[in-house]
Amino acid sequence: MLELALTRLDDAARHVQIDADVLEKLKYPRETTKVRLMIRMDDGSRKSFLAWRCRYDDTRGPTKGGIRFHPEASADEVETLAFWMTFKCAVMDLPYGGGKGAIQVDPRSLSRAEIERLSRAYIQAFAKIIGPDRDIPAPDVYTNAMIMGWMADEYSTIVGHSEPAVITGKPIALGGSLGRDDATARGGYYLIRHLSKDLGLPDPLTLAVQGFGNAGQFVAKLFAEDGHSVVAVSDSSGAIHRAAGLPVADLIALKNSGRPVTDFAGRDGIERIDPEALIATPCDLLVPAAMENMIHEKNAGAVKARVILELANGPVTPDADRLLAEKGVVILPDILANAGGVTVSYFEWVQNRQGFYWPLEEIHQRLETIVARQGRAIWAIAQDRSVSMRTAAYIHALSRLAGAIEAHGTQQFFAA
Ligand code: NAD
Repeated sequence: MLELALTRLDDAARHVQIDADVLEKLKYPRETTKVRLMIRMDDGSRKSFLAWRCRYDDTRGPTKGGIRFHPEASADEVETLAFWMTFKCAVMDLPYGGGKGAIQVDPRSLSRAEIERLSRAYIQAFAKIIGPDRDIPAPDVYTNAMIMGWMADEYSTIVGHSEPAVITGKPIALGGSLGRDDATARGGYYLIRHLSKDLGLPDPLTLAVQGFGNAGQFVAKLFAEDGHSVVAVSDSSGAIHRAAGLPVADLIALKNSGRPVTDFAGRDGIERIDPEALIATPCDLLVPAAMENMIHEKNAGAVKARVILELANGPVTPDADRLLAEKGVVILPDILANAGGVTVSYFEWVQNRQGFYWPLEEIHQRLETIVARQGRAIWAIAQDRSVSMRTAAYIHALSRLAGAIEAHGTQQFFAA
């Protein structure tokens, strides 16, 4: 995975003058720690789980990145996600490097008390690696505010004082920020709003959303509330479609009651479709918001949307990128499109450190300003250099990273 991800860095490096030291530094993770966590299960037995924390690059500041609970988590995946975080933070000009963590577990097979013990065990194992000035975790796939609250609490117990800035995405009651819950989706929504004319998108538009978790539900809600039409959604149970638009609020209520989106199939003209057919849904905007590599060489040809908004990390493979470019599909890349989440995480960290909390409108306005500024800058690079939005985003981030790495000293210092 990391090798594939690095091809995007190579693409960008071809378009800018970059010192060889910079590329050498960005090609490898700085450190990845692997541990085995042992916890007591509810039945009294002990069970162990593999876990990782990767600090990919910290040139621009403490490393930042979520913790994922997933049965297929691996060191390669964690390092790739940490690489993306390095570039994402640079794209948004946040004073952070990139990191990521994971536990190899299917959280659905554990009780709530077991998940709590596992979350606390993770912090006990990595307490010396993380810290508000060193490495700051956050939620990712199958982790949430409750888990971040347990983790922040465990860290505070270990260091002997309250330290909310060690983790973001916490419950509001424990120092979480207003607006963090929908921040990832909101960032993507603001990006579309700001670039919609340049992208040639109609208003209102139709969209299909793959994955109906945190990112997918909120993006569907934001677009639906703004008068746009969500025509297809999917989760791990399957996909549903209605050309006239789906009842988004009812679907979110259904998911909150623990049921899959496919429970709505058969009601009021809502049809169940093959999950692969979701990618081929006729619509203006396709929003992958599930997992990596979902749009690949074999299904990219079926995409009918004009624009893809990558809310998931790495949902489109490099092969699919090329096929989609040939079809004229514009991809708004993950390191820009889903960066609203880490941006509001940054706001949470700032508020924790200053001990002063901002109202929701201020969070939204600050987020919109950053998304519009960086989105516009990347659009301009793409136009000026005739490159894709993905390559433009990497160029944008790479020049910031290179500036920071060079400021620390590169081979040019020794040239004379
Ligand atoms: P989540 O666990 O809340 O939701 C994931 C959703 O994807 C679930 O509805 C699940 O059923 C669905 N899914 C899983 N496999 C699927 C499949 N094969 N087909 C269709 N749906 C499938 O996770 P999330 O936080 O919404 O994250 C989703 C993606 O967004 C991930 O790639 C994550 O890294 C990325 N992301 C999330 C955030 C955030 O703040 N939540 C920030 C940046 C990036």
